[in-house]
Amino acid sequence: MPRICSICQHSNREKINRLLVEGEIFRKIAENFSLSITSLHRHKTEHLPGNLTKAKEAQEIAKADSLLEQVKSLQNRALNILSQAEETGDLRTALGAIREARGNLELLAKLLGELNESQTVNILVVPEWIALRTKILNALDEHPEAKISVSKALESPNGSDS
Ligand SMILES: [Zn+2]
Repeated sequence: MPRICSICQHSNREKINRLLVEGEIFRKIAENFSLSITSLHRHKTEHLPGNLTKAKEAQEIAKADSLLEQVKSLQNRALNILSQAEETGDLRTALGAIREARGNLELLAKLLGELNESQTVNILVVPEWIALRTKILNALDEHPEAKISVSKALESPNGSDS
């Protein structure tokens, strides 16, 4: 018959867990929260590891989220630079911004892929990338030579298009 754990059910569970992790002596915790030392022992060895693992996962997800935000903000900056460079006809800067934007998209795709159980994401089929590529090439219609080199730069570095 499974016994109900008085600590797992406790309203101060988080606080007790923290005290256990910090190494507070059992007798003191037991006195403060009216618990038995036996149940504290059992909870620490049998239930605490699972609780800690969950907390760590939540932390990892939060970290990944903030990483994602940073890449998105980098991407916005690269796209702003690209627009400005297009307006002034500064093709060298535009090309740099395109490379930057492409790198950000790859990173973004990788991050999102890792969040979705590490499935492989092909950057060349990400809708945002396709839209960006089309926009770039259209903008270069009046500069055929630049269009060729840009279009070369936009190809997959490892040549796999499938
Ligand atoms: Zn427990």
